[in-house]
Amino acid sequence: VTGPIWDLVVVGAGPAGTAAAAAALRQHPQARVLLLDRADFPRDKVCGDGIAAEVFDLLDELRLPDAAAGCPPVGRLRLVSPGGATADGALRRPALVIPRAVFDDRLVTAVLAWGAVLRRHRLRDLQQHNDMVLLDGEIRARVVVGADGAESTVRRLLGVAPNRPAHVAIALRGYAPVATDLAGTQVIAMARRGWPAYAWSFPIGDGRANVGYGHRLDRSTGRAETLTELDRLLPGAADGITQVRGHRLPLSTSRPRVATGRVLLAGDALSLVNPLTGEGVHAAVLSGMLAGRAALSGADAGRRYRHALRSALGRHLRHVGVAALLGRRTAVIDAGVAAAARDPAAFDDLVDLGLTDGLLTPRVLRGLVRSAVHHPGQ
Ligand SMILES: Cc1cc2nc3c(=O)[nH]c(=O)nc-3n(C[C@H](O)[C@H](O)[C@H](O)COP(=O)(O)OP(=O)(O)OC[C@H]3O[C@@H](n4cnc5c(N)ncnc54)[C@H](O)[C@@H]3O)c2cc1C
Repeated sequence: VTGPIWDLVVVGAGPAGTAAAAAALRQHPQARVLLLDRADFPRDKVCGDGIAAEVFDLLDELRLPDAAAGCPPVGRLRLVSPGGATADGALRRPALVIPRAVFDDRLVTAVLAWGAVLRRHRLRDLQQHNDMVLLDGEIRARVVVGADGAESTVRRLLGVAPNRPAHVAIALRGYAPVATDLAGTQVIAMARRGWPAYAWSFPIGDGRANVGYGHRLDRSTGRAETLTELDRLLPGAADGITQVRGHRLPLSTSRPRVATGRVLLAGDALSLVNPLTGEGVHAAVLSGMLAGRAALSGADAGRRYRHALRSALGRHLRHVGVAALLGRRTAVIDAGVAAAARDPAAFDDLVDLGLTDGLLTPRVLRGLVRSAVHHPGQ
C-alpha cells in the first residue's frame, strides 16, 4: 500500500463527520484529515431539518459559523399529546429549520476550507493493525471516526450489532406547502394509536414545510398507512407533499459500548438519537466534536473519547432513557404536556430534554405528579 498515512479518516460527511474533522483540524491545523462519503455533496438526507439553537453554539466553538445564514428562525413550538393536551409556547431559544441538503453542504464546504480532503468513496472493509487502520485495502489511517449514520458500515465491520427493532424508529418525511395555521410554528402531534409515534410540520421559511411521521420499527406500518396517519394527526399538512423518503433512527435507549482502540463511532452510528423526539443532530455534532478532539490527542484515542462522551452526555442519556421508559404510557406524556402548558419553565425543560442535552428536572417531575393528581387516568 502506498500513499500517505492520514492522521484521521472520517467515514461519513454528515454533521457528526464534519464536526469530527473540524475539531481535529482546530486543534492541529497541520493534521492530514480525509473525509470519505459515498454521496456527492450537496446531498439530501432524510430528516425533519429541525436544528436546535444549541447546535449553533457547538458550531461556533468549532468555528463553523455560517450554517444558518439566510434561514429564518422558528420561534414557537406546539406539542399535542396523544390524549389531546396542547402546549404552545415560545422557544427560549428559537430553532432553525434548514433542509439538510443545505446545512450539511455548508459544513462540508467549511471543513474543506480548513484543509480537510473530501473523497467520494463507499467504505466496504476495515482492518485494524497495531499502528494503523487499513480501509478497503488502500487507505491508511492512524485513527478512524465512523460517522456513517444509521446503517453504519464501520459499526458492522467492528462486529457491533445494529439496535434491535424496539430501539429503532423509522420515519417518512416530505416537503409540502405550509398550512396557514402552521406557519411560523414547529408542530409535533403525537399519536394515541401505535404510540410511540408522532407527526410533525416544521416550516422551512420559503412557504413550504418539512412534514413527516415517525414510529418505532417494531410497530410495522406501511407507507400508505403512514401518510394516512400523518393526515389524521395534522389534517391538510401533507397536501401536495413531494420528495417523500424514509430512513431509520437508532435510538439512544440502546447504545453499543464505545470502542477503546483506533476506531471511534459518532452520531447515528453510535445510536445517539433522542428516543422522545427523534432529534439527532445535536448529539451527532457533539459526539463528532469529542471524537475529533480525542482522535489526535495521542495514544488510546478511544479511551479518551469514551470519557469525554460520558462526561458530556452521560447524565442526559440516562435521564432521557428513564423519560422514554415512563413515556411508554401515553398518560405520562399527556401529563408532561399538560405540565408544560401550565408552566413555561417546565416547557423549556422539556424542550431541552427532547432537543439537546437537558435533564428530567424536578420541575417537570412535579408537573407530572400534579397533572396525575388533578387528572387521574387521563
Ligand atoms: C425522518 C427523520 C427525521 C429526523 N428529524 C430530525 C430533526 O428534525 N432534527 C434532528 O436533530 N434530527 C432529526 N433526525 C435525526 C438526524 O437526521 C440524524 O440524527 C443525523 O443526521 C445524524 O447525523 P450523522 O452525521 O450521525 O449521520 P448522517 O447525517 O446520516 O450522515 C452519514 C453520512 O455517511 C455517509 N455514508 C453512509 N455509509 C457510508 C459508507 N459505507 N461509506 C461512506 N460514506 C457513507 C452518508 O452518505 C452520509 O452523508 C431525523 C431523522 C429522520 C430519519
